[in-house]
Amino acid sequence: MRIDIISVLPELLVSPLSHSILKRAQEKGLLEVHTHNLRQYTTYKHKQVDDYQYGGGAGMVMMAEPIVNCIESLQKERSYDEIIYMSPDAPVLNQKECNKLSMLQNIMILCGHYKGIDQRIRDTHITKEISIGSFVLSGGELPALILVDALGRLLPGVLNDETSALFDSFQDNLLAPPVYTRPADFRGQKVPDILLSGDTAKVEAWRYEQSLIRTKAIRPDLLEE
Ligand code: SAH
Repeated sequence: MRIDIISVLPELLVSPLSHSILKRAQEKGLLEVHTHNLRQYTTYKHKQVDDYQYGGGAGMVMMAEPIVNCIESLQKERSYDEIIYMSPDAPVLNQKECNKLSMLQNIMILCGHYKGIDQRIRDTHITKEISIGSFVLSGGELPALILVDALGRLLPGVLNDETSALFDSFQDNLLAPPVYTRPADFRGQKVPDILLSGDTAKVEAWRYEQSLIRTKAIRPDLLEE
């Protein structure tokens, strides 16, 4: 999978892409991430990429031209399955959507700043809009990285134990069950006996039950989906 991220602050993207699972995915050739500095695509003075909003009001708006220049120059190189704009006023990302997106070949992710981007780009060039939750951040870089991480770990071969992503929260619309490791007794708090029993069928049944209990208590909305 190839991901191109467009940003005015590509430096913000560096560290999370160069460690741990995302680093390994790229080293294994399973994931390619390219970042593009939007300021290199502006023809305005002082590398300007934003301007005052029509109608007045506080906050700058990212201009159409640099963004469209960047998108179109990337499109000349290859075709993209989705051109995604990270934005709070969009459908909220969930695991089902991540599973779907992880099967694509080439995606572009546009990070906004300030008040966001000129609506006309959203109307013409953006094919999908994604929010990471009902709160506002100052820029789209962290949301873009969240999406890249969520997709990267789903690519076959990226996680060491290939099946492990299947048992994480939200697959099957359930939260994950509690997990424990050594010691079996920590300051008097004991690991549930069943996990020490060696009976795989019983362990599985217990985990499913715990998942259901947790989901009902914390995210009952998932069970209605
Ligand atoms: N004026 C906008 C907020 C802009 S925040 C509004 O009220 O809806 C600046 C940028 O940060 C956005 O363009 C977007 O790229 C990013 N951003 C902020 N919160 C986000 C969220 N919850 N999900 C995805 N992107 C977000």
